[in-house]
Amino acid sequence: MPAAPDPALFDKVVNLCKRRGFVFPSAEIYGGFRSTYDYGPVGVLLLRNVKDAWWRSMVQLRHDVVGIDAAILSPPAIWEASGHLTNFTDPLVDCRVCRERFRFDKLEDPEVCPNCGAEHSFTEARRFNLMFKTYAGPVEGAGAEVYLRPETAQGMFVNFKNVLETSRKRPPFGIAQIGKSFRNEITPGNFVFRTREFEQMEMEYFVPPAEADRWYEYWCQTRLQWYVDLGIPADSLRLRAHDADELSHYSTGTSDVEFLFPWGWDELEGIANRTDYDLRQHEEHSGERLEYFDQAAGERYLPYVIEPAAGATRTAMAFLMAAYDEEEVAREGQGQGEPRTVLRFHPRIAPYKVAVLPLSKKPELQEPAIDVLSRLQPHFMCDYDETQAIGRRYRRQDELGTPYCVTIDFDTLTDKAVTVRDRDSMAQDRVPIEGLLEHLQARLDL
Ligand SMILES: [Zn+2]
Repeated sequence: MPAAPDPALFDKVVNLCKRRGFVFPSAEIYGGFRSTYDYGPVGVLLLRNVKDAWWRSMVQLRHDVVGIDAAILSPPAIWEASGHLTNFTDPLVDCRVCRERFRFDKLEDPEVCPNCGAEHSFTEARRFNLMFKTYAGPVEGAGAEVYLRPETAQGMFVNFKNVLETSRKRPPFGIAQIGKSFRNEITPGNFVFRTREFEQMEMEYFVPPAEADRWYEYWCQTRLQWYVDLGIPADSLRLRAHDADELSHYSTGTSDVEFLFPWGWDELEGIANRTDYDLRQHEEHSGERLEYFDQAAGERYLPYVIEPAAGATRTAMAFLMAAYDEEEVAREGQGQGEPRTVLRFHPRIAPYKVAVLPLSKKPELQEPAIDVLSRLQPHFMCDYDETQAIGRRYRRQDELGTPYCVTIDFDTLTDKAVTVRDRDSMAQDRVPIEGLLEHLQARLDL
């Protein structure tokens, strides 16, 4: 049976995010700030793990990709060349009756205001640029204008020559970057899915033009598989090729990796063949030659670019949605069922890998518990929790998605061993403290 969206899942995950410290509404004590979010103590770990997993796969495990970290503030010249100053716009209309503003191309009925129901109340559509503009230096005005980047990609194009000259790479090779981008979206929404400030994970892969189609196929498949390898069920993912009328004018092929969110299929990542559009634009606007000289073949060319561009924040959200599970489990020692919520994260994505839990906070258990904690901390992100009944602490760790809980009890004082509880099976093993690190490392397989 094909997977179906589960609308109830949305509220469950949003509530859990607030309750357990994944995501908070931004500026909440001031009433919140529309569609912005802060990542809490657990969410920051989740987001970091998503980015680390991407970097590991895209940079660390490859010989043909290097990373950069480019500036967020950027001069108008870059966005002039990239086309963003003229083309990165949404058509907006205002309702003359209720004063609400809408994206004209997203209206269900272009004649009727969805807010107040007035007919024929819209103004003419105007182009609204989505880039955030600000000023550098103490003087506002023309000449001091700068933009917050609306994508990380241009940082790779404008550094193409620098990287080529310093990294000893030659096509096919890639430049990867993770960082924040900013878009003044008119209709952000769906929790952290669409926000004005978001984090991207992008890679520009420069290839000889004749090899572009092959590499486009390669990156489509490679990127889809990345999500599967990190535990998202294959039937909740699909690769959707854009129709001709959806393609950017410079792209000869774009496919989206889509995830089945509670509201339906939506984009996690786009893989595009951007041709030589960007390098050609920057060559023309900057006057710098950006061609690659292939000495073996004795020819110069502008490389084509295959770009896998993913959103870190929405990918973190997809991992949360995919990991969320509820089940009925027997309560320890009582034989009666109780519900349990568990996030079945892949260990690499899980915020904490291990939680260390002394059965009581008496000093004779606290001391060996801290000793166990300090043995594990250099190797994994660990949580430490010594209050509440142990059953409730297990449930909390289940809701954080922690793969293993290590419990220190009074037997530990004599047998020098601890209880290791598995998140998914809830099975418990007695493991000597001396071999604990190896026991966990073998199971986590990070
Ligand atoms: Zn209206």
